Amino acid sequence: MKKFAYLWKNALVLLAVLVFAIPASVDFLAMQKREPVAKNDYEVRMLSEYCEGLKDTPADTEIYVLDSGVPGGTFLIFGGTHPNETAGMLAAVSLVENMKPTAGRFFIIPWLNKSGFTHTSPLDGMQDFFDITLDDGSVRTFRVGNRLTNPVHQWPDRTYYEGTSGRKLVGTETAEIRNVNRMYYGDPDGVLTEKVCWGVYQLILKENVNLTMDMHEGSPEFLYLDCTMVNEKADNNTAMSIAQGMSLDMEFDDLTMRAEFSGMKSYGLSHRSLGDNTQSMMTLMETYNPSMGPLHGKMDDDLIINGNEPNYVEAYQRGLNYFKIDDSGYPLINRVARHITCIFYLAKNYTDAHPDRAMAFEGLGSYEEMVQKGLGGLLKPIK
Ligand SMILES: [Zn+2]
Repeated sequence: MKKFAYLWKNALVLLAVLVFAIPASVDFLAMQKREPVAKNDYEVRMLSEYCEGLKDTPADTEIYVLDSGVPGGTFLIFGGTHPNETAGMLAAVSLVENMKPTAGRFFIIPWLNKSGFTHTSPLDGMQDFFDITLDDGSVRTFRVGNRLTNPVHQWPDRTYYEGTSGRKLVGTETAEIRNVNRMYYGDPDGVLTEKVCWGVYQLILKENVNLTMDMHEGSPEFLYLDCTMVNEKADNNTAMSIAQGMSLDMEFDDLTMRAEFSGMKSYGLSHRSLGDNTQSMMTLMETYNPSMGPLHGKMDDDLIINGNEPNYVEAYQRGLNYFKIDDSGYPLINRVARHITCIFYLAKNYTDAHPDRAMAFEGLGSYEEMVQKGLGGLLKPIK
């Protein structure tokens, strides 16, 4: 009889554990699912085609190849280096679903750090998903994610690590061993994050990529918002003049987008390390994301999609933030359209400088047209 009571106690404990474990498992598995992309004229490849070590790992990710059929240059565009910088990922998805290339080839990766999309930042008030209602009434759900590779997939963070760029990760920087944008140009035998970097590096070399854009966002305190970093080295130092042409074109559309030289000591960052070690002109752009800074309030779809954070409006009004923020917010569609417009003008100016490596596309419209359409019009229904 005593033994029987003992079993009951165990069963109750097990039941109590399952009450928490089952919903947590459902939640965990939902974060691993592949997000669908609407149809367009593209070919899908995987990053593991360029780094074998990624095959069958949670870090392998889709590359959408859109080829105009007209000989020209090759443009590599990626979002999701830092998954919580939502506009970069959505700009990439919008390009994949709408782009009609008219010259050259485009390689587009929406979820570069695929593993980073499977978790969020603990104790940071983040949410897992957000929804966008399309014009036809259907709803598409996207993940928010974390800027680093999931520790479930890459662990532990070593107390000392030196990447192939020579960047030394010590002290408070050790977690950056899971940051794609610190580990370039990667290592096929290194940690999982380095394999992602190696895949990008090999893709650029093998596909003879001429121009690369790495899309990011930053918190309002960050000094490089509405800014494109450019490695100066490409094509006998013509890169900055191409980027300045893009800046000028954007200025004519009333969009500020300054071009800055890549930091000489930005070791391990895409624009520095890949620009120094490949033939590609490397660029990286940033927009303001109101949900990223430490002052952000309640995290919900409204903050992610409409981009209105009163704490940052107040911070600006008190002179605590240099980046101008007004109470109309900075909606996600404006940031997505800004990324796409920058890419459009980079391709145009690159083509002007190198007509033999032309790259051009249609299908998305101007900045104003994209903002008018909204995300509900820009993103396509999944059929
Ligand atoms: Zn970033």
